[in-house]
Amino acid sequence: MSIILGSLAHHRQMQVEITAYCEASEQCRHSGPLELERLIAVFGPDFVIPHSYRYFIGHLVCSKCRARQASITITPPRAELPKFPMRTVW
Ligand SMILES: [Zn+2]
Repeated sequence: MSIILGSLAHHRQMQVEITAYCEASEQCRHSGPLELERLIAVFGPDFVIPHSYRYFIGHLVCSKCRARQASITITPPRAELPKFPMRTVW
């Protein structure tokens, strides 16, 4: 399963980073991380962002300019790649 298509609970478990960017104006360009605990409180643990992207984005309000024109990025945790020690090739 693509990590992007995971539920919010899965994102929390995987320590995925979700960052919001204000797209309202060149002057603002505010960005910041979204807290998964808060997202889960609002949308529920089973919410999958890409399945309801417009709905999700519609809830984001820029904390700097109060606009509701945001985009987001979903970034896998840096430590995503080798979860286990690399297998030794004999
Ligand atoms: Zn803004």
